Amino acid sequence: AKAPVTVTVTGAAGQIGYALLFRVASGQLLGSDTPVRLRLLEIPQAVKAAEGTAMELDDCAFPLLTGIDITDDPRTAFDGVNVALLVGARPRTKGMERGDLLEANGGIFKPQGEAINAGAASDVRVLVVGNPANTNALIARSHAPDVPADRFTAMTRLDHNRALSQLSAKLGVGVADIAKLTIWGNHSATQYPDIFHAEVSGKPASELVDEAWLAEEFIPTVARRGAAIIEARGASSAASAANAAIDHVYDWVNGTASDDWTSAAIVSDGSYGVPEGLISSFPVVSRNGAWEIVQGLEVNDFSRQRIEASVQELTEERDAVAALGLI
Ligand code: NDP
Repeated sequence: AKAPVTVTVTGAAGQIGYALLFRVASGQLLGSDTPVRLRLLEIPQAVKAAEGTAMELDDCAFPLLTGIDITDDPRTAFDGVNVALLVGARPRTKGMERGDLLEANGGIFKPQGEAINAGAASDVRVLVVGNPANTNALIARSHAPDVPADRFTAMTRLDHNRALSQLSAKLGVGVADIAKLTIWGNHSATQYPDIFHAEVSGKPASELVDEAWLAEEFIPTVARRGAAIIEARGASSAASAANAAIDHVYDWVNGTASDDWTSAAIVSDGSYGVPEGLISSFPVVSRNGAWEIVQGLEVNDFSRQRIEASVQELTEERDAVAALGLI
């Protein structure tokens, strides 16, 4: 039998945590032949709620789940971790300045980066879900100098999946008929969902829709989908965010299809003019357990301006956390 993989989930008592943990424990994150050991990290006042979730996990009697530890100490949570899902973050509350938001998240992601640096397994993979996800990942990464930079990623897979769903509905085709969509930039309202390289049953998607639909319907609908869900559901998206986290890690570990790619925010190597070191979303494939940026795509003017605007926002967030001494 395979050795258990240690999966740490932060913010484990939250909404996304509740939608995520059962799927991890059932084998959907790493495959049905891989036992999982869960570590749940929470802030002290939420540890009791995390214990309640752990009781329900026990009651599922998942054959792959070999143990659950619950802690409020990052060092304990990340000791020996193989897969770190950083979900807990400080959300922006009404009237909060951006500097305060970044500072509060620095207080969370700096110690977590340090704890990952100190104790993680040599194959550790980190996915940041908690917002502002790209910049939180940058903070954690910068406090984990001994961990290869490419192990720190942030989630844009939900944006990618939303874009797939919107395009499939518009064209009346199945999501499986669409390949090579891309989310570029920041996981924020400036993100750019790009269909110019996408294929629908092998045909260019850009021949099937017009630019007005892209600019006025598709892009804003994908970017504002989170707000639309809050409006309809009275609570933020949680199951779909958890689903995207599962997709991201599953593909990272198992690879992407040979004739397709996906989107993930990874450390830039300077490709497509994105400053080196920023954690920005790109078209990516996973090969041999590592993400690679898809190279050589032609970027038209429509796309170029939108990618640049989102990357500009990431640059400003990076400069702001640098000014606060957080990276
Ligand atoms: P959720 O579980 O709903 O969300 C958690 C984080 O995911 C938020 O930062 C949220 O950002 C983000 N997120 C990213 N993408 C999405 C998406 N598509 N839809 C919704 N959210 C998204 O929050 P809860 O408040 O229910 O739970 C958070 C938990 O984290 C609490 O239990 C809290 O105690 C815990 N926490 C733990 C910490 C730790 O372990 N050290 C530190 C801080 C908090 P956004 O708010 O922008 O939607």
